[in-house]
Amino acid sequence: MFKKILIANRGEIALRIIRACKELGIKTVAVYSEADRDSLHVRYADEDVCIGPGEAGKSYLHVPSIISAAEITDAEAIHPGYGFLAENAHFSEICESCKIKFIGPSSDTIRKAGNKSMARKVMMGAGVPVIPGSEGDIKTEEQALEIANKIGYPVIIKAAAGGGGKGMRIAHTEISLTNALMSTKAEANAAFGSDEVYIEKYIEEPRHIEVQILADKFGNVIHLGERDCSIQRRHQKLLEESPAPGLPPDVREKICAAGLNVARTVNYVSAGTVEFLMDKYFNFYFIEMNTRIQVEHPVTEIVAGVDIIKQQILIAADKKLSFKQEDIKFSGHSIECRINAEDPDNNFMPSPGQITTYSAPGGPGVRVDSHAYQGYIIPPYYDSMIGKLIVKENTRLEAIKRMERALDEYIIEGIKTTIPFHKKILSNASFQGGKFNTGFISTLTNDE
Ligand code: ADP
Repeated sequence: MFKKILIANRGEIALRIIRACKELGIKTVAVYSEADRDSLHVRYADEDVCIGPGEAGKSYLHVPSIISAAEITDAEAIHPGYGFLAENAHFSEICESCKIKFIGPSSDTIRKAGNKSMARKVMMGAGVPVIPGSEGDIKTEEQALEIANKIGYPVIIKAAAGGGGKGMRIAHTEISLTNALMSTKAEANAAFGSDEVYIEKYIEEPRHIEVQILADKFGNVIHLGERDCSIQRRHQKLLEESPAPGLPPDVREKICAAGLNVARTVNYVSAGTVEFLMDKYFNFYFIEMNTRIQVEHPVTEIVAGVDIIKQQILIAADKKLSFKQEDIKFSGHSIECRINAEDPDNNFMPSPGQITTYSAPGGPGVRVDSHAYQGYIIPPYYDSMIGKLIVKENTRLEAIKRMERALDEYIIEGIKTTIPFHKKILSNASFQGGKFNTGFISTLTNDE
């Protein structure tokens, strides 16, 4: 087993990983930027190393600083969390060549899954349903028009290297397609360093359902059920839950089996997530595989009774999974709300600054994963998520009630947060009835 792990991340996920390490008896090294000097992850870790100024490019994304920090502290492994370097194949390769274990799949797997267009091709070959669309990179307008005419409008143009809900555009007509093609390529190039794009049929009113996978290096692959992540604003998740409401048991079984098939097809080893879109007739299609821990992993931990981060670390240490599929017993319903420092009344504008008053909710079935505290100053450099509120109850309606109660208890003053917006979602009759899709939020806001 590892004796010491460096966490190449910040915020709530750094805390989450430190907690798992402590319980496994592993020492931890925090890295931090100058803007995060007073962060909880620095306080909770056994050792800490400053890796540069506030800008992520000079700190959390700066590979040489992170590798040096691991070397001077004798960390044997690096946990990348999510975001930053978590899906950077080059970084994992450098770790491999420095004999530092990257906690995640091999660089080869990251590279293959990271090109979403290539991943589509591989899955088609394995008999996994994928959304009709192009077979690879779209280079010319003619190519784009030909494919769109074949599959029918609307279509969505997506950056092959895209992520985080960015680098996507919908086109309803030939004119909007030709316009969107060039702008998506330019945006993809600027954001992801590659202008490779592909085209998919735009699925109307889909749900986003994803399957959590654990796979060890001995060929044991299991799933921990599904999550519904349809509550999104501009393709970014805001609220997630498990199990997905209203899925017929046979559909649930099929989508989890498809998740296993995807993981086996790429010889996956680590914790990972297979994402699908589902139409209103319960047809589902593979969209991508995420090769890292995800923000929304706690809802699965709660209903499946498995600590996914501990398992991810054990798998990286070449341990065999200590349980089988039939040992996983799902119970109850879990919901997670992402608490972002954003102003929902002002187009979700980031609201950095100092938290003047902070009091987190508690009581039965409530979990708070957050690095926020009273007096904490939210730096302007990073993601606006300051925490996650997760609840468990026996049924979905009871879980909604519990979440409403916990949100009422959550006191955060000095900045704006998404708490009032979550209350709006939870009190909505369609949400409560489980009748929603990825367009739900735009019905509550004035978004396009
Ligand atoms: P990212 O890697 O940026 O998260 P995804 O490919 O996972 O991108 O898509 C993110 C979200 O965008 C999906 O959950 C869904 O809401 C929307 N989306 C993506 N592809 C389609 C599609 N073909 N039809 C409709 N919506 C889509």
